[in-house]
Amino acid sequence: MSKLQGKVALITGASRGIGRAIAGRLAEEGALVAVHYGKNRDAAEEVVREIEKNGGAAFTIGADLGSLSGVEALYASFSEALQDRTGSSDFDILVNNAGIPVFGSVENLTESSFDEAMAINVKAPFFLIQQALPRLREDGRIINLSSAVTRIAIPDITAYSMTKGAINTLTLTLAKQLGPRGITVNAIQPGFIATDMNAALLENPEARKFGADFSIFGRWGQPADVADIAAFLASPDGRWVTGQLIDASGGSHL
Ligand code: NAD
Repeated sequence: MSKLQGKVALITGASRGIGRAIAGRLAEEGALVAVHYGKNRDAAEEVVREIEKNGGAAFTIGADLGSLSGVEALYASFSEALQDRTGSSDFDILVNNAGIPVFGSVENLTESSFDEAMAINVKAPFFLIQQALPRLREDGRIINLSSAVTRIAIPDITAYSMTKGAINTLTLTLAKQLGPRGITVNAIQPGFIATDMNAALLENPEARKFGADFSIFGRWGQPADVADIAAFLASPDGRWVTGQLIDASGGSHL
């Protein structure tokens, strides 16, 4: 499989979970992958080693995405690393994957939790895209991680769901704006996926069952279930798909 041969992909939050699976999958298709991490450099380097073991190519980029200066730092390192490897700082695929969960009802959520959710889940993807635009090649791809909870309301995660609603709107408006440049913009909306983000839910039998029953298949989703969708959207096969909010929740809406 080499549908992404010659392409360069930047995946945020790729040291674990869904981002890690997407990194591996795009590398498997031949893309040179930038594995971004927030804090865990060792884990990101492990992802690179795994990709290289499988015959792919990747490198790590570290940056905290809690502020615009973090986004700028990410692109400074990314551009430098890319220049070294390809002689250009242009790239093809941006996957806005980094994100944080925020638990708490409207009554209980604190201002600092609300602000943090907005900073990582909304502001960072917005500015990551803004800074990507001058470097993104024609026929490029932007893939945003949204969530099925934008459609299936879960009151305990109102603020988190709001952040993903904002990502959906960003996806639609950008798809229209960037279409003339040949760039597609789509969002993937996972249901409950078994990652570290959901470690506490996975350990609680009641929550574990709730997560499995969310899908009509009666199981939790796996990172690979999401990564395969990202690989399709990133590939030439996805060229005619843009402005879509793609369900990846095993039919939770049915
Ligand atoms: P995860 O917690 O395993 O990974 C999230 C990644 O984001 C981590 O690598 C983390 O380092 C990075 N990150 C968080 N804050 C950061 C910061 N300030 N700076 C830099 N990096 C930071 O989560 P996951 O389950 O793999 O989720 C990936 C994406 O998918 C997220 O956007 C999440 O909201 C979305 N999503 C996940 C699920 C699920 O059930 N797991 C469901 C729907 C949507």
